[in-house]
Amino acid sequence: MEKEDFERKCIVCGRKAEIEEFCSRCYIKQNPIIKSFPDIAIKACPSCGRFLLEGKWIEAGPSALISQLLAKKARTDSKYCRVSFTGELNLPEHSPAPGTSAIGEIHARVSASSVESKHLAFSEEYSLPASVYYELCNDCKLQNSKYFEATIQIRRAEHETADGASAFEQIVSRIRKEAEHLSAKGLHISKEEKSPNGIDLMLTLNSYAIQIARRVASEFGAGLKINERLFSQTKSGERLYRMTALISAPNFLPGSVVAVNAGKGREELFTVIESGKVMQLEALIDGKRVSMQKYKMERCGSLPRTTAQIVRTVPYIEVLNPENFQPAVPENASNKKLSEKAMNSKDGKTQIVIYEEKIYLA
Ligand SMILES: [Zn+2]
Ligand SMILES: [Zn+2]
Repeated sequence: MEKEDFERKCIVCGRKAEIEEFCSRCYIKQNPIIKSFPDIAIKACPSCGRFLLEGKWIEAGPSALISQLLAKKARTDSKYCRVSFTGELNLPEHSPAPGTSAIGEIHARVSASSVESKHLAFSEEYSLPASVYYELCNDCKLQNSKYFEATIQIRRAEHETADGASAFEQIVSRIRKEAEHLSAKGLHISKEEKSPNGIDLMLTLNSYAIQIARRVASEFGAGLKINERLFSQTKSGERLYRMTALISAPNFLPGSVVAVNAGKGREELFTVIESGKVMQLEALIDGKRVSMQKYKMERCGSLPRTTAQIVRTVPYIEVLNPENFQPAVPENASNKKLSEKAMNSKDGKTQIVIYEEKIYLA
């Protein structure tokens, strides 16, 4: 008798059986590696070519992306192990513009080993529908999309003080944050230009940009001027305007000490409590609260605070003038809140401002 007669035969095709009662070709027909594929929808940035995978924009070629996607999404038969994928994405000719999509297919190859007989290798090929939706990634929104309708110009105060510089920085970062909150509504910073005394931020949408400029300027007690100019007209006759909001950063912040013209050419010192269209101030001399229209403080700059040694607390507080090392009674020694704060200081030092050669607790 021939030897072959003793070999098991594939019950389907009669060739030599390799696994269970099948040859490997018939086995995989009975037991496909892939049980199901989900719909493959890919998001791609048309500008930098990156893909969105699980919330992250990744730099991968389409083939690498597809093998990762298939490995994540395909349901495989547990009879197989060491399953791996390769694939190509085929799309019809199209122009990848943000907001458009292309529908094509993925040509995928799957290879695997049988759990039962690890030496046997199996492979299958599939064609799957796939769609690619184009959307600018966050980086490209910032860098590449030059379209803008509105400009917010933020300018530093003249003779900028340390508090003024910090007000400027805070205004810029607040505008960035507010723009980010509205990114779902299509507001983006498309361009930025630094200038010696500030920065220009170009934004995609007039209405939201102006809203933000108003809100932030009012919150910081900053100056605001808004201009609009016609920049084009659509075919249907719609007029398109470009708005410019000029924000002049104040030279102070809440907490700053400022000298304000109190009428009759006299200047008085105040601590800024709250910025806004109406400023809330506290007089340094006696701690009285006053409200003041913001425009009256347009030219005010914060005074620098320094530290002074306390040399006496009874009956009046006395400090060492750090400029001439002479003891001096602060002008506002009778300000209860500030003198108590100084007397309770742990290191025997207190914050002061010097204005017109006079010392004030601050
Ligand atoms: Zn067979
Ligand atoms: Zn991109």
